[in-house]
Amino acid sequence: MISKSLSLFCSFLLCLQLIQATFAQSNIQYDIVLKGGRVIDPETKLDAVRNVGIIQNRIAEISSEPLRGKEVIDVSGLVVAPGFIDLHVHGRTNVEQEYQLHDGVTTALDLEWGVENLGMWYESRKSKALIHYGASVNWPYERFRSMDKYKQAVEDASSQASSWESSIDKVGDLMPQSYLEQLSPEEEVLTHQNIKLSLEEGGLGIGVPIGYLPNTKAEEMYRVFELAGEMKALVYTHVRIPNVYSVQEVIADAILTGAPLHIVHINSVSLDQIGLSVKMVQTAQDKGFDISTELYPYTAASTGLASAIFNDGWQDRLGISYGDLQWVATGERLTKETFEVYQKTGGTVIIHLMKPEWIKTGIAAPGVMIASDGSSYSKLAHPRTAGTYSKVLGQYVREEKLIDLPTAIAKMTLLPAKRMEDLSPMMRFKGRIQVGADADITIFNPDTVIDKATFEEGLAFSEGIEYVLVTGTFVLRKGETVLNVFPGNPIYGKFKK
Ligand SMILES: [Zn+2]
Repeated sequence: MISKSLSLFCSFLLCLQLIQATFAQSNIQYDIVLKGGRVIDPETKLDAVRNVGIIQNRIAEISSEPLRGKEVIDVSGLVVAPGFIDLHVHGRTNVEQEYQLHDGVTTALDLEWGVENLGMWYESRKSKALIHYGASVNWPYERFRSMDKYKQAVEDASSQASSWESSIDKVGDLMPQSYLEQLSPEEEVLTHQNIKLSLEEGGLGIGVPIGYLPNTKAEEMYRVFELAGEMKALVYTHVRIPNVYSVQEVIADAILTGAPLHIVHINSVSLDQIGLSVKMVQTAQDKGFDISTELYPYTAASTGLASAIFNDGWQDRLGISYGDLQWVATGERLTKETFEVYQKTGGTVIIHLMKPEWIKTGIAAPGVMIASDGSSYSKLAHPRTAGTYSKVLGQYVREEKLIDLPTAIAKMTLLPAKRMEDLSPMMRFKGRIQVGADADITIFNPDTVIDKATFEEGLAFSEGIEYVLVTGTFVLRKGETVLNVFPGNPIYGKFKK
């Protein structure tokens, strides 16, 4: 008798709570309700059917109860994930951002190379971007503009420039010469001052692509790491030469100086040694060092044919020959003759040099992030520019079952957000589907999502990404770009003044 009344009382209480909860929720009308999707939040490990309520630019409610909204979108059968965060893009205009958007990306950062004249560039993108944007300080440029012989040319170009693009175009041809030259002690001091000034313009750490300046002395490199260590400014690096010794060089510099380090595209800089490279990064992490890495899910790399990557001896370093190079302008494979002609004119090649098992090793490795290294637009640009995230979700999660869906989503959202948040506190609100998080949300069909860009046919929008919200604004609906909305915001580092 007692237990019966107790259970009645308890069920009454439960009812009351339910009614109260329903009443409270029914009084709120959200701007947008995403109804009945499979919500995956890698941080809280939520993986369940939920309704998501959005007010303005934030996630305001996540509930299994019905929610009222000014606009209710039925997303049943679809996955509701945090917007993907790409730490490594080179295409920074809306042309490339539209491909990134169709691949589920809501934040695209150029961190490997960074951006020259950073403050001017950030200004140039304000209120114009489809998705969030940001960049690191470009160490090769800061070094270049500190050198006596180029200082005046850079100052003239910057002061006369009518746009960010023209400020770079005017000195673009001079810059590669400086990569071959050493700094005087005074120029090195000035380089460090200029790096600090660009960090104060909002730069997200320091892009240190030593692979493009492989003659840089160990001392100069080490001192850049010392500066980064003192400031706790994250260093992103494309290592000196594609081998494990170069990975060891930057890990040693980071450990000795306390510089936080992110090694870009561990696949193309490690090649058949990727297992060892990843193990070294994971071991450094286990020992408490702030070191991380990423890869793109393709077996080809891509870069400029006139760059230092193709200095004499490239066939041995990369383990390939002329026929493994694909000229982006035409799609043709190169010969010794065409290589020599095109190397003089300059242009981009796709480099077929990796084995599928190396890529699988990197994707499957815990803690290794996904990042695209997407190029500037060209019809036959490397397909990673358009298909990186959908390829991982379609091929490596659904078809090959290499990793599960929540793990893949973590590598695309939470891990890059956490990687950035010491340096850029605004990233604490990204990479999560939680109450209070930014409403940067990617909604896709896990049964159909797939990349459509190919090496042969070139760029194409990925399929299966159905809706994308950027700070609470739809930029993609039913797989179509929403026209004339530009909700992308700048992502700044903590040194911004
Ligand atoms: Zn690179």
